[in-house]
Amino acid sequence: MQTIDLRSDTITRPTPSMRKAMAEAEVGDDVFGEDPTINRLEAMAAERMGKEAALYVSSGTMANLVSLLTHCGRGHEVILGNLSHIFLNEQGGLSALGGIHPNTVPNQPDGTIRIGEIEAAIRAENVHFPRTKLIALENTHNRCHGYPLDAAYMDAVGELAAKYGLQVHIDGARIFHAAVALGVEAERLVKRADSVSFCLSKGLAAPVGSLVCGTKPFIAEARRNRKVLGGGMRQAGIIAAAGIVALTEMVDRLADDHTNAKALAEGLSKIGGLSVNPALAKTNIVYLDINRENLSAQMLAERLGEKGVKLLPTGPRQLRAVTNCHLTGADIEAALQVFSAVMD
Ligand SMILES: *Cc1c(COP(=O)(O)O)cnc(C)c1O
Repeated sequence: MQTIDLRSDTITRPTPSMRKAMAEAEVGDDVFGEDPTINRLEAMAAERMGKEAALYVSSGTMANLVSLLTHCGRGHEVILGNLSHIFLNEQGGLSALGGIHPNTVPNQPDGTIRIGEIEAAIRAENVHFPRTKLIALENTHNRCHGYPLDAAYMDAVGELAAKYGLQVHIDGARIFHAAVALGVEAERLVKRADSVSFCLSKGLAAPVGSLVCGTKPFIAEARRNRKVLGGGMRQAGIIAAAGIVALTEMVDRLADDHTNAKALAEGLSKIGGLSVNPALAKTNIVYLDINRENLSAQMLAERLGEKGVKLLPTGPRQLRAVTNCHLTGADIEAALQVFSAVMD
C-alpha cells in the first residue's frame, strides 16, 4: 500500500542533489566563522531577504528564540497573535529562557492582527507596565490556514512600529510559500521588518536548519545568543549545503504544492461530514473540521491511516493536511478517493 503523508511538510526528505551537495560540502569550524558553506548560505539568505546579514540555526524554534532574545531583554513585552507558533508551540521559551512577556492579540482567520488592536496593545510609559519592545507577525500563518499576509499589511505593521519606536520580527517559517502565492519576492514582504526567520526543513525539503536575517549588529548579537543556547555548530556546512540547494532549486516549485492543496480543499469541501473552505487554501496547508456526530479527529485519522492517508489531528474535531514535494496531483486524487470511502 502506498502512503500519502499529509501530516506536515517537515516530513520531506532531502533531494538527490541535496545529498550530493552534502557529500561534497567544503566545511570548517563555524564557531570560528570558518565554514565556507555556511558563510555562503548565510550570505545567500541575507540577500534573498534584503537584509545585511544572516545566521544559520538548527530550527525554526531556535530562530525565533534567538531573534526575540536579541530584540528584547527581561521584562520587555512582545505583541503577537494568539494563534502564533511562537505563542502556542514553542514551550513559552521567550518567557522561560528570556523573561520576555507575551501580549497576545487575536489573529483574524487570514492570520493578520487588526492594526487598531496592535496599537491598543502598545504600552504607555507607566511604572506598572512592562515596556513594549517588539511586534511579531507570522507569514504564512500556520494555524490560520497557511494564509499569506500581503505586502500592504506587512508595511502597515512596519509603519505602526516605526511610529512607536518598536521593532518588528517576522516568523517566516514559510515566507517563501507566501511570496510564491502572492507573486512577489520574499524580500518585499519583509521590507519594513527588523528581523525575519525562515525554515529550510519544511516545504523546501532540506534536512535541517533555519535562518535569522537582519542588520549586521543584530546578527552579531544573535550569534552570541545562538552560542549561549548551545547552538554553535562546528562543521555544519554538511547540512547547510542542502540549504543552499533548497534556496536555489526548491522555492519556485512551491506553486505545485499550492495547486495540490487547492485541489485537495476543493475536493474535501464536496464530501459530506467535512467542513472546508477552499477560499482559505492559498498555500500548502488545509484545515478540515468534522461535522458528524460520533466521529472524532483521532478516529478519522486512524481510519484514513489504515488506508494509507496520513493527516494530523489538530483539535478534537479538526485535522490538518499539508502538501509537499513528494506528492503529485494523482496522490491528491487518490487521497480524496480514500476520504470519500471513509466518510461514505
Ligand atoms: C514549524 C514552525 C516553526 C518552528 O520550526 P521548527 O524547525 O519545527 O522548530 C516556527 N514557526 C512556524 C510558523 C512554523 O510553522
